[in-house]
Amino acid sequence: MNILVLNCGSSSLKFQIIETDLPLIETDADMQRAKGIIERIGSQALITFEASGKSPVKQAVPLRDHRAALDFVVRWIISPEAAIPGIRSLADIHAIGHRVVHGAEKFTRSVIISDEVINGIEDCIDLAPLHNPANLKGIHAALELFGTGIPQVAVFDTSFHSTMPEKSFLYAIPYQLYRRHKIRRYGFHGTSHRYVGYRYRQLMHIEREQTNIITLHLGNGCSACAIKKGESVDTSMGLTPLEGLVMGTRSGDIDPSIIEYLMHKEGMGIGEIDTLLNKQSGLLGLSGLTNDMRDLIDEEREHQDRRAKLTIEIFCQRVKKYIGSYLAELNGADALVFTGGIGENSPTIRKRICEGLEWLGIEMDESLNAEMRAGKEGEVQKQSSRVKILVIPTNEELLIARDTVRCVKDAPRRW
Ligand code: ADP
Repeated sequence: MNILVLNCGSSSLKFQIIETDLPLIETDADMQRAKGIIERIGSQALITFEASGKSPVKQAVPLRDHRAALDFVVRWIISPEAAIPGIRSLADIHAIGHRVVHGAEKFTRSVIISDEVINGIEDCIDLAPLHNPANLKGIHAALELFGTGIPQVAVFDTSFHSTMPEKSFLYAIPYQLYRRHKIRRYGFHGTSHRYVGYRYRQLMHIEREQTNIITLHLGNGCSACAIKKGESVDTSMGLTPLEGLVMGTRSGDIDPSIIEYLMHKEGMGIGEIDTLLNKQSGLLGLSGLTNDMRDLIDEEREHQDRRAKLTIEIFCQRVKKYIGSYLAELNGADALVFTGGIGENSPTIRKRICEGLEWLGIEMDESLNAEMRAGKEGEVQKQSSRVKILVIPTNEELLIARDTVRCVKDAPRRW
């Protein structure tokens, strides 16, 4: 089956075409055929398309909304210029998989999209006011373009964490607020944590029930996940993606009293504080320079910038704290798995996170670590290390494509 995977943001649309089917999933023989991104939808959009094995095509085109953007994507996919093997018309796309950010308690696994599911995703808008409406735009655009004849599947960022026990997901605020408003920790990046957990199991030749690990998704957004017997039992993001680790522009954990204090001291409104914590904090806020870890590492190395150094230290320290607490919660783990833009590509950050964790049985091999970057996958611990340390590039799109096939064929999910 040719699956179109769609990930719609407020002004962006990312897509991949993945050829996969049940036998291909079993043998890991699925193929990425094309991918692309459209940014700045609503004005002069920037487009980058890439059919596998060819160089990327870039252009700028005015696209007024997601419907126009998807139309543009589909016309390219079936064009002779793209020449994607096996795809000549709309009928050659067999199903569509959508990334949906928030599924709350309603969606604990991926589902075929129906009117009822759309209503359910709308009900979760309160919890993800920026993300779910954008995901819905993608779903509506695909319905308009492809009609109801082609199956569409929603894959939720939250659903992998639906196995968390109450003791992990409840906040210590009055219990009736959970009853009344479902205020609790949901967790995000679930598709990424689930994918790298699955890859780890494959690499180790073990069963799902034997998978006891800590996964660290460190990208622009960052989160940690404690996986016990193959299931998420705790994660660092909460009701929204603001909680937990220090991120590109998000603060992660802070004392909630800071909000009221800021209102008094700076005369800020609640909306401004929300923007401050989500868009002006994290690496950007601390360093005053950038939200990009690459630039911070360069600043520290080339100019001995004190704030850049401090920012990196705080980022790594927060990750260490979560590793420590999850090791306690899991009664030890077999592996730490790094993924995401920083986790996959930065030996420096991985090294600084693991430094000083030898007492916990975490010993990194520096030369193995230094070589592991740019899409490589493997182990980077010393032979004597009790806990393995792995780098596994994430592939959320592949997991969305596979879930789409499983839902369409009503096959059981094995991970
Ligand atoms: P997202 O969370 O938006 O999916 P990614 O997982 O792609 O983002 O991560 C993007 C971030 O990864 C960049 O902002 C940058 O900070 C970081 N990054 C990418 N490559 C490197 C590198 N070689 N060294 C350090 N950080 C990197």
